Amino acid sequence: MREELDKRLCEKYPKIFKDRGGSMQETCMCWGVEHGDGWYDIVESLCSTIQSHVDWKRRQNQGLSDKEFDENHQVIAVQVKEKFGGLRFYVNNSDDYVNGAITLAESMSYRTCESCGDKGHRRSGGWIRTLCDKCQAGKSSE
Ligand SMILES: [Zn+2]
Repeated sequence: MREELDKRLCEKYPKIFKDRGGSMQETCMCWGVEHGDGWYDIVESLCSTIQSHVDWKRRQNQGLSDKEFDENHQVIAVQVKEKFGGLRFYVNNSDDYVNGAITLAESMSYRTCESCGDKGHRRSGGWIRTLCDKCQAGKSSE
């Protein structure tokens, strides 16, 4: 993903992307968000859904300090990438709600061009990608 979009996501959801600046030994997030710009909206909506859920849980929470709550319940992205034409969003501290949201986002990615965000579908070939007709055509003419 373009650096600008990557940065925008990390600034908007600093708690989810808290490992973004981590070292290679500690986290895959040192590579950033490893997929095309076309999925930005999907990932952005997913992060928004996740963070509001975590914030809601925090308000329900009794007895844990903020730090303890974050350690146990703040969802943290450990790797975000493209695989076999679909989005993969791996996290720590997830729950059923978060897993459901991730499943929805991943299924949306199979219908969305990874390059430009238009309606797309999976293309076979050496590297399976989800692309729209236009981006697919542009790719073949390269
Ligand atoms: Zn496209």
